Amino acid sequence: MVKQSSLNHVEKEFFMKEAIKEAKLAKEKAEVPIGAIVVLEGKIIGRGHNIRENSQLATSHAELIAITKACQKVGSWRLENAQLFATLEPCPMCSGAIQQARIEEVYFGAWDKKAGACGSLVDLLHDQRFNHWCYVEGDVLETECRTLLTDFFRAIRLRQKEEKRVRASLTNEN
Ligand SMILES: [Zn+2]
Repeated sequence: MVKQSSLNHVEKEFFMKEAIKEAKLAKEKAEVPIGAIVVLEGKIIGRGHNIRENSQLATSHAELIAITKACQKVGSWRLENAQLFATLEPCPMCSGAIQQARIEEVYFGAWDKKAGACGSLVDLLHDQRFNHWCYVEGDVLETECRTLLTDFFRAIRLRQKEEKRVRASLTNEN
């Protein structure tokens, strides 16, 4: 069975921009900038951004936080008819939570070739051996989502290079 999107182009970009706002909040906390939101009937019912370093919890991915908040908001573990927007392709853990919550549609920005479970490494949400599968669409504001990540990692590499240079110069002085 092929599922279809219930949103138009303008709605998709509008909600992805909200997920991007969350990713920027992660960046402000020196976290890898990944954000997610959950939408139900045109309203945002859950928001989250990656806080893995600050929380030191392996489960504190943007999507899991947004799903948890959405469940609390509606008072149910079922998020049927909801849409999830994430700036990066969800990993296996988050895709599992998407299935468990019965989320209907998933939209993401950038592809995660090394850890993505929505088509990159595996395609969990389209696997019809599970009792729930989703409509999935990547490449929503892809450039903006990907640039946030590449800029973040480039800044880290530059900082590491600079630290190395300073360390080397200190060693040379001794
Ligand atoms: Zn994840």
